[in-house]
Amino acid sequence: MAKIVVLMGAPGAGKGTQARLLQERLGLPQISTGDMFRELAKAETPLAAEVRAVQASGKLVSDDLVIRIVHERTNREDCKRGYILDGFPRTTAQAAMLEKLAVEQGNKIHAILVDVPFELLEQRATGRRSCPVCGEIYNIYFKPPQVEGFCDLHPDAPLTHRADDTAEKIRVRLATYEAETRPLLDYYESSHRLQRVDGTRAPEAIYADIEKIVTGDK
Ligand code: AMP
Repeated sequence: MAKIVVLMGAPGAGKGTQARLLQERLGLPQISTGDMFRELAKAETPLAAEVRAVQASGKLVSDDLVIRIVHERTNREDCKRGYILDGFPRTTAQAAMLEKLAVEQGNKIHAILVDVPFELLEQRATGRRSCPVCGEIYNIYFKPPQVEGFCDLHPDAPLTHRADDTAEKIRVRLATYEAETRPLLDYYESSHRLQRVDGTRAPEAIYADIEKIVTGDK
């Protein structure tokens, strides 16, 4: 049975970094709804403008829209062997939709919480920078690039800082997480589908735990 790996965790917990490693090393596609919306938001359409405004506010895009894009994306050929969800589900309605999707696709859901104490999250998120070319994620406090402001692999590309990674926006995003998404942890835990990993360690140590869970050794 193919696996749906749901990476859970607050903004700044390191879900994106882990999802990228899983994609690179296990060949499972990383489906980041945040990335998909950032891409969609670049267009000059009313929908794009709406998504830009919601993302900028730190609130959530409507369940209907999120559910539609996840349904469409996960039914593509590359998802047949399973896939990694990064940033989805974030509400109970989205979690309910995922249950149906898993049945429809014949997949099993495994939720993994990248657990990071609240106090660390703000610094994790405000320090985050990424390469516009390859998407590599850095952190000015915890994982700085070799040359300040530039990707190690693409030295001509200045790193970007997400508009919603400011201290003010992160507070709203953390509050949204607490209100809407944290309840999903109990939901997956009560059905014995949640595993926790200590997300305060170096990315490779966290990855080693996650890989064991995903490949079924743990
Ligand atoms: P992320 O990159 O996962 O932190 O997502 C950035 C922003 O995209 C969020 O603050 C939301 O506005 C939007 N977003 C991403 N995923 C979802 C989702 N599953 N449900 C609703 N909004 C989302």
